[in-house]
Amino acid sequence: MTRDDSRSLEPDPQGLDRVRPEVRALAGEIVAWRRDFHRHPERGFEEVRTAGRVAEALAGCPGFRVRTGVARTGVVADLEGDRPGGPTLLLRADMDALRVEEESPQLEYRSVNPGVMHACGHDGHMAVLLGVARVLSGMRARMQGRVRLVFQPAEEGPGGAEPMIAEGVLRDPRPDAAFGLHLWSRLPLGYAGLRAGPMMAYTDEIGIEVRGRGGHGAYPHEGIDAIVAAAQLVVLLQSIVSRNVAPVDSAVLTIGRVEGGTVMNALAERVTLNGTQRAFLPETRDLCARRVREAAEGIDRAMGTRSEVRYTARYPALVNDEAMTRLAQRVIEGALGAGRVRDDMLSLGGEDMGFYLREIPGCFFFLGAGNTSRGCDAPHHSPRFNIDEDALLLGTEILLRLAEQFVVPGTARP
Ligand SMILES: [Zn+2]
Ligand SMILES: [Zn+2]
Repeated sequence: MTRDDSRSLEPDPQGLDRVRPEVRALAGEIVAWRRDFHRHPERGFEEVRTAGRVAEALAGCPGFRVRTGVARTGVVADLEGDRPGGPTLLLRADMDALRVEEESPQLEYRSVNPGVMHACGHDGHMAVLLGVARVLSGMRARMQGRVRLVFQPAEEGPGGAEPMIAEGVLRDPRPDAAFGLHLWSRLPLGYAGLRAGPMMAYTDEIGIEVRGRGGHGAYPHEGIDAIVAAAQLVVLLQSIVSRNVAPVDSAVLTIGRVEGGTVMNALAERVTLNGTQRAFLPETRDLCARRVREAAEGIDRAMGTRSEVRYTARYPALVNDEAMTRLAQRVIEGALGAGRVRDDMLSLGGEDMGFYLREIPGCFFFLGAGNTSRGCDAPHHSPRFNIDEDALLLGTEILLRLAEQFVVPGTARP
């Protein structure tokens, strides 16, 4: 089930009127940062130039203590308010690009790195967080508390959140709340989407090796055909979501790769299946994992094969804190306008922001960046993906308003 797409991408730019002058004055720089990142995309844990540009931009934000090389290419920037005490807020942006060849020849800031592209909008996430840094830097005198900006590598894989947590981004001090956004081309500019509780899925990788016994294709009774067994297993696995998972719950099991056999007239000795499993709830995840093993065992018994099932846990479900989500919703509505926040977002995509939100109460939300009239309606990871850059100003304004809720005493509750 995906409810993260909207039929039409009719943008509603009314929120731009509420963007504060300090952010508006930065518009040129924020867009320039984003285009620079876009032009020079780097893949997970290779964000060396990117990290350098981030650190350079942060050097222009007085008051920030900047650490680079966190989890290899990550950057962490702490700003301490002049007033003593107060809470610590974490804001996170991811940094990595994808192995996608950009297909927008007319784009003046198109990728110069062959086969690599910012096709998910992470270039925009960094630009937003740098915009936030610039404005916050001028607010230190009014601040009581700390803001920690986390520029995290490798969201698309193999995952940068976990190593950054291992290197201490949730310590000294421990953040009281964490927020992050994802620019979303399936939502029109001027809209946002979130959900309290599980919003994105557990992502697990499945590897199954089905072992038979090779032989001549004309004498199948003398061997054990791993291909016939694997084919039955693939079909049987599809009954787990349709027959074992409750229809009102959600899960996905996709076998995306099959490999086996050597020649057309020999029995395959072994077949490897690789797939991905998604679920929102831990019990559903466990149920699917158990049934995958049972299906493999059942096929083994019926067909005489020996199968080995391997699970690799990738990202945990992304679970938004109830109270933080309500707060975020009110803050975002204050910026974008009443009725501009959908609270029913649900995606079986994975997102390693889930690692932070497993430890710290917070909220991750989608910010509309789609606009058909500007050619910004391609899906994420598409070679024609692009965002309406006006969303960068809205994102900066929203994160600043969230930060004010925590570290600027006297800020009105929305
Ligand atoms: Zn992505
Ligand atoms: Zn992404």
